[in-house]
Amino acid sequence: MATFIDLSDIPVIDNHCHAVVATQGADPVEWLQRFTESPDPAMGAEHVRHTVFYRRLMRRIAARYGLPVNDEAGVLAYRAQRGSAALVGELFPEARISGVVIDTGYPSPALAMRPADFVDASGAEYAALMRLEVEFQRLIALHADYDELLEAVRQLVSDVRAKGFCGFKSIVAYRTGLAIAQWDTPAAITAFQRARREVQSSGAVRLGYKALLDTLLHIAFEAAAEQELPVQFHVGYGDPDVDLRTSSPLELRSLFENPRYRAMSIVMLHGCWPYFREGAYLAAVYGNAFLDISYAIPFLSRAEMTSMTRSAFGVAPLSKIMYSSDAVSIPEMHWIGALDGRQVIGTVLGELVDAHELEVHEAREAGRLILNATAARLYGLTEAAA
Ligand SMILES: [Zn+2]
Repeated sequence: MATFIDLSDIPVIDNHCHAVVATQGADPVEWLQRFTESPDPAMGAEHVRHTVFYRRLMRRIAARYGLPVNDEAGVLAYRAQRGSAALVGELFPEARISGVVIDTGYPSPALAMRPADFVDASGAEYAALMRLEVEFQRLIALHADYDELLEAVRQLVSDVRAKGFCGFKSIVAYRTGLAIAQWDTPAAITAFQRARREVQSSGAVRLGYKALLDTLLHIAFEAAAEQELPVQFHVGYGDPDVDLRTSSPLELRSLFENPRYRAMSIVMLHGCWPYFREGAYLAAVYGNAFLDISYAIPFLSRAEMTSMTRSAFGVAPLSKIMYSSDAVSIPEMHWIGALDGRQVIGTVLGELVDAHELEVHEAREAGRLILNATAARLYGLTEAAA
């Protein structure tokens, strides 16, 4: 019989996830659209119900709430009536989620549960990341002078822990791609002037000006190295705003090779799917590279999550891999991510035991690192006892 490493007693730190929305609506159109990265309404309306991920999620939620399988209307009515705080209060402790590292950029804080309410309901330790591009965009709109902008960015990224953040998050993959370059000042200023023209014509800027964005990111990376902060990068899978061709983790080479950034931990998110082999390789060759594997988003089958996990464990040190859900808005995603993540990780660790590569106690310890201890150390959260 195949060995399975039971990790259900290990509290998980969800090292990359998003806030739960304050109000859980019962509108099926909105609900279905949550389970696709596609902006095309036809995907939610016609195709989401035919994804393996959605079938698995709904089967498990319906069973959890004591409803018939595939009773979508029943599930929606039940959870809307229960409300966010009650759902979080049941599901987070049940999934033993002891800590969360929240990307505050999405959903909008105006729609999210207030952090204090979320902490009260979940009992989880809470840490937040500063979302760099959103802050840069805000500062570009405020400053007409380039040197003033640079000074404002330096202020922004100084003393980050005192400002209540445990690190940075970058969505440069959603803007100009991960091949972050060095630019001379005239090129950066030209890009800044174009960004300012966008501010003047539309009131805001979407930071698609590569020479400017790269330059501001380097200021943040210098600060991260100096303060020994982790930086999370969106890599690979996302909505079609991401050009998957320019969001391979291999594009991050110039950062990994830069000796000035050694003290900045680079966390490649959601297994870099579909580039998980590349991500695992980087975690194996660069001391400051960490691979996050998410178990709710991307919307994958169990088999595909298992395959990603196998590839990662097969090459990267098990001390360089961290669990997350990447769940957004609905607490059932944080919950199923933790339950299925432990299950998949326990299965793959069991395979390594059966292959005589790990002892059972070594597999257990690897599980503790992946689910909890490595993230606790990186983000400054409480570590579960060995
Ligand atoms: Zn995310």
